[in-house]
Amino acid sequence: MNFINIDKKDWAQGIDKSRGSYRLFGPVTSDNGCIFKELENDTQPEMDAPDTVMSAKSVLFPQTEKILVTTLDESKDDHHIMKRAGNDLSPRAVLGIRPYDAKAVQLVKMNFDTEDYRDPYWCDAYEATTFVGLAVNKPGPFDFSLSAGTGPFSEEGLDILLADMDDKYLAKILTPKGEAYAAACGFSGAADEKESRALFDILRKEAEKSITSQVPTGGLKEKTILDLHEAPFWDDIAFSCINCGTCTFVCPTCWCFDIQDETKLKESSRFRNWDTCMSPLFTHHASGHNPRGVKVQRVRQRFMHKLKYFLDKYDAGIMCVGCGRCVKSCPVNIDIRQVCKTMNNYEKAE
Ligand code: SF4
Ligand code: SF4
Repeated sequence: MNFINIDKKDWAQGIDKSRGSYRLFGPVTSDNGCIFKELENDTQPEMDAPDTVMSAKSVLFPQTEKILVTTLDESKDDHHIMKRAGNDLSPRAVLGIRPYDAKAVQLVKMNFDTEDYRDPYWCDAYEATTFVGLAVNKPGPFDFSLSAGTGPFSEEGLDILLADMDDKYLAKILTPKGEAYAAACGFSGAADEKESRALFDILRKEAEKSITSQVPTGGLKEKTILDLHEAPFWDDIAFSCINCGTCTFVCPTCWCFDIQDETKLKESSRFRNWDTCMSPLFTHHASGHNPRGVKVQRVRQRFMHKLKYFLDKYDAGIMCVGCGRCVKSCPVNIDIRQVCKTMNNYEKAE
């Protein structure tokens, strides 16, 4: 591992240099706020932008992705044979991803890259991606990343971690992928390792100290699933929910999708689209039965999955990185921090 000083005056030029060998993604302002998207040739990532409305999950898991194609033209030998769509899997770099969002990618990976099953679309995109993170010097009021097992200077899932030092970035190179990306940018101003570690440490401690939002999670593991499932508080939590799904779409750790086939003339494609467990249609069976036909069942499912089922299944913490996006975005102020506290402190009445 090494450290590099990157003068901000050289940043744009370095990024541009890397465009020859990488597709670049980063935060940019859109009509709907700051989001992660592919950076056109003349666009630089807005590294100073406050937290993005949407996370970088769409870089690996697009909102709509063509996954299979086939032809219905029977004059062709391969008609009606589904083939993988030719998605661009050339190297790409995500610039300015926040450490909690990089950790979220690792949580999503547990779903898409398992011993039994490897999702080729997500995994191939993941392997093609270099994550260049920007540490959070000043966490906002919704940030509870420390309670969620990550933090403003967390390195998990990153290839490079940048610390903003006003006129320069101090870059900590964490992996060979990160090293290759720094080389592609021509960033080579070696920084003193001891001094750099000390600087990172000071900034990390300051950032962590300024996080005001703490959420208890230590009691979740010992609760029994059935006790939490049957707890009386779910009606109150779900009462105001309008099942809009916003919380799931903005969440960097939500991975649910649906499949849709479309045919135009003789060409047919299969797409996968983000879906949401908050929708009544999500579990609607072809028979007409819906195991989560009532709102409270859907709201409970979302929180139980994130804060209990995932925790029990993987023993890798909760399926939430504390980014606070769902808290900020919920139109009726349902707050996962409050729900987590309620679940964590719940004792079943004897
Ligand atoms: S954002 Fe709020 S209202 Fe919308 S589905 Fe989520 S919890 Fe319900
Ligand atoms: S559940 Fe909310 S706070 Fe947690 S990662 Fe998802 S959007 Fe962020």
